[in-house]
Amino acid sequence: MAVVAVITESRAGETRVAATPDSVKKLMALGLSVTVQAGAGAGASIPDADYEAAGAKIAGTAAAALAEADLLLKVRTPTPEETASLKPGAVVVGLLNPFLERPALEALAARGVSAFAMEFVPRITRAQVMDALSSQANLAGYRAVIEAAEAFGRAMPMMMTAAGAIAPAKVFVMGAGVAGLQAIATARRLGGVVTATDVRPASKEQVESLGAKFIAVEDEEFKAAETAAGYAKPMSAEYQAKQAALVSEHIKKQDIVITTALIPGRAAPRLVSEEQVLSMKPGSVIIDLAVEQGGNVAGAKADEVVTLGGAKIVGIANLPGRIAADSSALYARNLLAFVGLLADKTGQIAPDLEDEILKAALVVSGGAISHPALQSAA
Ligand code: NAD
Repeated sequence: MAVVAVITESRAGETRVAATPDSVKKLMALGLSVTVQAGAGAGASIPDADYEAAGAKIAGTAAAALAEADLLLKVRTPTPEETASLKPGAVVVGLLNPFLERPALEALAARGVSAFAMEFVPRITRAQVMDALSSQANLAGYRAVIEAAEAFGRAMPMMMTAAGAIAPAKVFVMGAGVAGLQAIATARRLGGVVTATDVRPASKEQVESLGAKFIAVEDEEFKAAETAAGYAKPMSAEYQAKQAALVSEHIKKQDIVITTALIPGRAAPRLVSEEQVLSMKPGSVIIDLAVEQGGNVAGAKADEVVTLGGAKIVGIANLPGRIAADSSALYARNLLAFVGLLADKTGQIAPDLEDEILKAALVVSGGAISHPALQSAA
């Protein structure tokens, strides 16, 4: 019977955990045994006793949990110490941030373990239940609006009171993927007047179906700006200039801007310049969801609130971590579904590397970084 380990995430501010009592029960139903480090669920409000009641063993330290582990389930990349505690031949699954955290992957390779990055799970129908990027982005989009409302010194909805009317907040969402669409829906629920932009033409209809207005330069380049996988392409300098002019006019009238634009494997595109921030009204709030990938907004800093002119730029690196009970529950379900592909009928970890999902997500194997998309980055 293979042993699955779940340990406390050691990265600063990481409150999520890779398993819940519910996922532990289901992992055990797959014929696996589960060891959870004491306190691993604390950031997500899950006491050790609940893991124990679900059937997990509790280990006092990460090293103790890892010593026998055949499979390590993680939120973030393991630290060097955690990697050093793994058995050669073990398997690691997590949000390994493969483009940006190469040294951690090299350490896993040197240790002789295999690693699967949840970011690389392909977006095919069979893998939807494993789509951790979507599950986490959805909650990040929701939370971004809550953070914006908190930082904004005014109300979001229109209010008619005996003492006069309060105008609704104008909210502009840049990047209408999974996070952006949830931000639009949340801002609408709170009563904001919402506009949104994206470079993918398919997003226009989605934005409009949520009751928001779509703002973009809709030229020939825009009509072709989507990869077969449904992701954004980098746009030409000409397009970016035209779009920036449109955005400049729009942004100065906004109260809240939420940026979510990402291009897989690249630094986040810069969407808001310093001049555009300076053009905003006093009290405006910008939430930059891409801050960990370099930021969409000039001046944004991870885990800092930067004031530029009258605007506050809020750069929260880990928004899903601010809603850790839900983000952990969804992520644990993503992982559980993935483990269903790794384990065989006898409860051993025996990945079939011909499976297209496993093949796509495998980043470290045979003592090396093995994913084709990561070769050129060497
Ligand atoms: P993402 O996180 O990579 O990027 C966020 C958004 O930023 C995207 O909509 C992208 O087009 C946009 N963007 C990039 N550059 C931009 C720029 N310069 N200006 C404005 N916007 C820019 O994307 P995502 O949220 O993970 O998803 C992208 C698409 O894939 C969405 O349509 C989503 O619904 C779809 N999707 C499909 C599946 C599936 O089929 N299983 C699963 C999840 C998402």
